[in-house]
Amino acid sequence: MLGHLSKPEAGASCRVCGKEMRKGEQFHYITGFGYVCHSCGIQGVECDSCGAKVRRMTLTVLRGRSLCLTCYRRERETGEKRAMREIKSADIQSALGMALESAPEGFKLIGLRLKTSSKDMWQAEYEREDIFEMRCS
Ligand SMILES: [Zn+2]
Ligand SMILES: [Zn+2]
Repeated sequence: MLGHLSKPEAGASCRVCGKEMRKGEQFHYITGFGYVCHSCGIQGVECDSCGAKVRRMTLTVLRGRSLCLTCYRRERETGEKRAMREIKSADIQSALGMALESAPEGFKLIGLRLKTSSKDMWQAEYEREDIFEMRCS
């Protein structure tokens, strides 16, 4: 299973029509769904949420629903408000730099602390940007 994840090109097939992926052929990866071949990728499909006609390859599958980009962003916004990352670093300066660098998209770093009973593992806490701004203004 791990080997399959690290080498998705080998033996992958289209999740829609089952066509096998071959070298040189264009396949598209749909987050939450898997690979689809080019002809299935450019097929027009409907967004499960707003009903907009979009190309299949622009969809994102979230909790079993196929969403267009706009709906996916909206759905994601109603989801997680906080995020955590673990960072390995010997000093706080570089830990801070790494924490800022690895911030998830749309999140702001709000805290960094040394993990309990650890000398070089840090816990960085992030908050969603819009919530962060709401709280601070
Ligand atoms: Zn296909
Ligand atoms: Zn939509």
